[in-house]
Amino acid sequence: MTTTVTLTGTGVPIPSPGRAGAGVLVRYGPTALQFDAGRATVMRLTEAGTGLHELSALFITHVHSDHVIGLPDVVMSRWIQDHVWNSGPLTIHAPEGEAVGFIQRMLDPYSADIALRMEHVQPAPPELDVRAFACSPEARVVWSQGEVIVEAVAVHHEPVPDAVAYRVCTPDGSVVISGDTRVCDEVEALSEGADVLVHEACRTTALHEAVAGTPFEQIFSYHADTVALGSLAKRAGVAHLVLTHLIPAPDDESGEATFESDIRSGGYQGRITVGRDLMTATIG
Ligand SMILES: [Zn+2]
Ligand SMILES: [Zn+2]
Repeated sequence: MTTTVTLTGTGVPIPSPGRAGAGVLVRYGPTALQFDAGRATVMRLTEAGTGLHELSALFITHVHSDHVIGLPDVVMSRWIQDHVWNSGPLTIHAPEGEAVGFIQRMLDPYSADIALRMEHVQPAPPELDVRAFACSPEARVVWSQGEVIVEAVAVHHEPVPDAVAYRVCTPDGSVVISGDTRVCDEVEALSEGADVLVHEACRTTALHEAVAGTPFEQIFSYHADTVALGSLAKRAGVAHLVLTHLIPAPDDESGEATFESDIRSGGYQGRITVGRDLMTATIG
């Protein structure tokens, strides 16, 4: 069997052509795990050939709109098809705190629509199966099924209080998904020997002067500097570094090459992919 890692969105809050909001799909046989659900996640999953009914579980890294704005769409669209697939509620795993309240409230604006659909076709309202876990600086198992294990660790996206990275282990190897974070020791430890590290990337060093004194300086301060990320990936012995959540979003190959050269200047010599939507990395 192989494990596939598909980028369902490489974008950020500022819209960019061809880049959906944050999301990563990890598949191992029938196990399909979605991490975050930014803008247009339903479309990208469909384009990737994964039906919403096939999702085994969904994991949230943190509640910033660009990571969760597509979540009501995932839940509602799965529910609307449930009379066909009978897949039941989607299990949503999230760090304790804001994420749980967000998930519990997110369908409220659809209450009239839900009531109308229940009069017509659906026998029951969408069920939300939320599993909250405590953020921990030590990696902890938050989900497992057969040979597939998911761990979470707290990261540094302050002032966001509850943000995590995840590691998925399958018999083929391990995949780490950073979520949003500064380059940090916790992700480095989680990425030790990882086959694939999907990490957010921000060109902080390169654009240092250009953003000084602007709101972007604040924005860059809680994202991952590409040069420091190259050093992290080298120290952790990551085989394949996949960059996502690209700041600023490159719109051509020369723009993508600047991300790669930042990573190289940090010392990383392994394989680099500057992410585009629906790119897939395979292990095993
Ligand atoms: Zn983000
Ligand atoms: Zn964020």
